[in-house]
Amino acid sequence: MIFESLGLSPAILNALVDKGYNSPSPIQEQTIPVILAGNDIMACAQTGTGKTAGFVLPILQMLSTRPFANSNRTLALILTPTRELAAQIHESILAYGKYQRLRSTVVFGGVKINPQMMKLRSGVEILVATPGRLLDLYQQNAIRFNDVEILVLDEADRMLDMGFIHDIKRILALLPKKRQNLLFSATFSNDIRQLAKGLLNQPVEVSVSPQNTTATTVKQKLYPVDKNSKALLLSHLIRSEKWFQALVFCRTKHGANKLVKLLSQDNINSAAIHGNKSQAQRTKALENFKLGKVQILVATDIAARGIDIDQLPQVVNFDLPNVPEDYVHRIGRTGRAGSNGHAVSLVSADEIKQLHDIERLVKFNIERVNIEGFIPQNKLPESKPFQSQQTKRRPKKPKRKPLLEGQSR
Ligand code: AMP
Repeated sequence: MIFESLGLSPAILNALVDKGYNSPSPIQEQTIPVILAGNDIMACAQTGTGKTAGFVLPILQMLSTRPFANSNRTLALILTPTRELAAQIHESILAYGKYQRLRSTVVFGGVKINPQMMKLRSGVEILVATPGRLLDLYQQNAIRFNDVEILVLDEADRMLDMGFIHDIKRILALLPKKRQNLLFSATFSNDIRQLAKGLLNQPVEVSVSPQNTTATTVKQKLYPVDKNSKALLLSHLIRSEKWFQALVFCRTKHGANKLVKLLSQDNINSAAIHGNKSQAQRTKALENFKLGKVQILVATDIAARGIDIDQLPQVVNFDLPNVPEDYVHRIGRTGRAGSNGHAVSLVSADEIKQLHDIERLVKFNIERVNIEGFIPQNKLPESKPFQSQQTKRRPKKPKRKPLLEGQSR
């Protein structure tokens, strides 16, 4: 398929040429016509699938024929969980909309509110926001929602995980009843379905790549190791495997900071991104990593969500995540677009439950590799043998009840 057949204007098509996109990704093929037709949508798609353009392109197209927004108003509201993701969506809007005259801005917490209030003063056609800051701006009369025609909830599952449900509900209550709703989520949990029920009007459901499967181009391994030897093992791997760059995931902010300290004591150049870092610090760390100035980027799941780093060769799970779906998100950061990637996990005995949960989700046992000098004293228990879908026994058919005299089927 080509972009021309999706009904997008020349202004948008030219911007896509500038970006070097040849054809729409599967999620874009599915979402763009449905959104342009005015439907609500419930889309299951992870970061890396091209989902952002999947909603930004049709929004740009639809708003191009509408009158501009009035002061302190917006026509399209995009809610997203993290500052990084908000900033990236806004960058995409600027890139795809560069030949249009639409105004857009992005607002998130952790930075001064005044410049954001100034930007909203004359109105913007598209507003990207994290929920908390958006409510602050509403309370200060910097934004009114009366003219919102399109609402996007991006990474809805993550917004719920981060406890934004109350903020989201407060925002929803302030929006006009008649509007188009677009919900994007990496998973369709019961909570998401519940949220969707109260929000979406006869949504079209779209989904790309089977849920919760890991990219086949990602080679996955795990190293059993004692907890207190993990940092040493990581240094060893960085050197012996000659990792030029790696994204390392830690479960906690404290753990991420500690790891950066330990790596720097070992002369390995690293930086951390997590929720306690200021926006400026996070942006700088990400930029330096992209430029190759930082060798190891240590991130928590929430901070890493949505960061766009192309073709990362190596992802490391320094700790296993508590939520098994996060494992899939984490390793989805490597092996993109057909390139090979590697994901390794350093697993200590106390993480066996998380490992069981992950293996049950990805439906195979991750290859275990023992490294001399790091064989754990506290042995990692065996994985549960994975029962493949094919070998699972079919449930028996219930027996038919015998007929009573005089009865017929
Ligand atoms: P997303 O899933 O929206 O975070 O997008 C992942 C990456 O894919 C981003 O770097 C986009 O710039 C890129 N991308 C999005 N759509 C396309 C496309 N149709 N062709 C090539 N790259 C794309």
